[in-house]
Amino acid sequence: LIPISAAMMAVSATVPFTHLCTMLEGVDRAKGKDNKKKIFKEFLDKWREFHNSVHKDDPNTEDSFYPAMRLILPQCERERIAYGIKEFTLAKYYIEILGLAKDSPDALKLLKYRAPSHAKGEAGDFAAVAYFVLKNRCPEKGSLTIQEVNDLLDSIATNNAAKNKEEVRRSILKLLRSTSAMEQKWLIRMIMKELKMGMNQAGVFAVFHPDAEDLFNVTNSLAKVCIDLRDPRVRLNEIAISLFSPFKPMLGQRIPLDGVEKEMHHEMFYIETKFDGERMLLHKDGDTYKYFSRSGKDYTHQFGAHPLEGSLTPYIHNCFASHVKSCILDGEMVGYNPQTKAIMSKGDKFDIKNMAEDSDLQTMYCVFDILLLNGQKFANSPLRERVDYLDKLFTPIEGRLLLGDRKDARTKAEVIDALNEAIDRREEGLVIKYPGSKYAPDKRKGSGWLKVKPEYVDGLMDQVDVVIVGGYFGKGRRSHMISHFLCAVAVQPNTPGEKPALFHTFCRVGSGYTLKELYQMGQRLHPHWRVFDKKKPPKTNILFPSGYKEAPDVWIDPEQSLVVQIKAAEIIESDKFKTGCTLRFPRLEKVRDDKEWSDCMTLDELDDMRKNAEGK
Ligand code: ATP
Repeated sequence: LIPISAAMMAVSATVPFTHLCTMLEGVDRAKGKDNKKKIFKEFLDKWREFHNSVHKDDPNTEDSFYPAMRLILPQCERERIAYGIKEFTLAKYYIEILGLAKDSPDALKLLKYRAPSHAKGEAGDFAAVAYFVLKNRCPEKGSLTIQEVNDLLDSIATNNAAKNKEEVRRSILKLLRSTSAMEQKWLIRMIMKELKMGMNQAGVFAVFHPDAEDLFNVTNSLAKVCIDLRDPRVRLNEIAISLFSPFKPMLGQRIPLDGVEKEMHHEMFYIETKFDGERMLLHKDGDTYKYFSRSGKDYTHQFGAHPLEGSLTPYIHNCFASHVKSCILDGEMVGYNPQTKAIMSKGDKFDIKNMAEDSDLQTMYCVFDILLLNGQKFANSPLRERVDYLDKLFTPIEGRLLLGDRKDARTKAEVIDALNEAIDRREEGLVIKYPGSKYAPDKRKGSGWLKVKPEYVDGLMDQVDVVIVGGYFGKGRRSHMISHFLCAVAVQPNTPGEKPALFHTFCRVGSGYTLKELYQMGQRLHPHWRVFDKKKPPKTNILFPSGYKEAPDVWIDPEQSLVVQIKAAEIIESDKFKTGCTLRFPRLEKVRDDKEWSDCMTLDELDDMRKNAEGK
């Protein structure tokens, strides 16, 4: 005997076709779905066991169950070209090869397989009819392996397409001479692409691997299903995730606020900060780092492959806890301004992926998920467990490495409050996550991650031009500058042409402008700000609601001020402002340099707008 190199050997070159057919026969005869599945599973388990022993030194072999699978699910086969052979053609080949007289009873049975008089109970089933005709003419036991059968079927398909009848005949002859009648029956069904064994495609896939059907639906490749999912214990989402190879991160689904509670199964959920930067996956193994973008592009040259190079790695390498050897993190790469201690928004026009070294901004990585730690994969752990690992992973460092925050919530009202706060912090929305969600690369719909943003429905509300009458100092990072503005509308003067003399406070706005614009506005307003002391309110022409609600830190005489254009989702009732209403999710769109302070919106116009909005 010549020893065969195990790595070279395909399991299908050893497994007899008879074994496959005996299994199919068993499935066909078994009663009930579970019994059918059990028989298929036994065959599959034996195959897998044999596969593991043959390929024990080559775990990455491309050999797989595919040669058998393509015969079990011939309707899913895309690799082999169509046979182009129907029952009638096959019958003629058989008659010719077996040397049957044209009008002999057996020849007629095959040709008129649909007629009940000839075929008794098997009428209409060509394979079953053929079985009876072939029973005494075929060898009792077949001698082909699964690989040989596939080779012969390939030959039939290609030669039939090339109209090479003689070769087709030769292959069919070979099959007839080397298979039993029972095997012929299954072969015919394979050629006709319908096995009729009482177990459908979904059933076969389910026994093979819990993700088989999903993967087949996206790839349409039985071969890929069999190779990628050869180990039933390894789930599809984990297969995609491995150290130093790119994968597509999980995505969020944009949904209206009204849908949040239902999507979260009316259970507790997380509200996370939505960072405005570039999605980036960090892969780390000891001193080696790699960074991949959402599309799988490698940005390691920018952020640094080692602790001594790049715009990020040198600053974060020492932050990791000593137990962390390897990990894969998911997060957002943002630009951070160390002077203002603020995260820049993408609208501020910079590209974190290609930032020059002398830029004022530094690279900061905001981490919100972990997919692998010291070789252990987490894609199938629920988010609530993954975030536990995140908490113990590194020590955050200001302006370089940030641990994304999350808070628990249950209701739409909590989401609205959080969204208001986010808009106020000049963020564009929130990310809401289901704590039980697993990590599915590239998945958006039904992933358990939601994006909520203010709903600026076009046309539902016009933009408003209001005058700035007050300012609020920023909190934390922006405490040294005015970061929010109090805006007002004018009481229309009695006589046309006259300038307004009274103003009603209307809304507070803190987002929508870039830091540069904020700075420029600050420069222009700076000389005119005066302190607003709530206990000793100044005498002004700005009217507040009772109790001086939403009193600013500083105020400005409207005559010295600017008109700004604001966009919002809707007008809502509010007792915090003199107008009795305010804007939800206001965004400062631009400074209206073309308008005078006296050209701002009036109370009458605001009333019209409210009525209009109610009508819509
Ligand atoms: P999408 O990325 O969903 O195709 P998009 O590019 O327009 O759409 P957004 O709708 O602005 O992006 O928001 C989704 C993106 O928000 C995510 O792709 C991710 O990069 C980013 N993101 C920021 N913070 C988080 C967070 N805490 N969790 C998940 N994603 C976040």
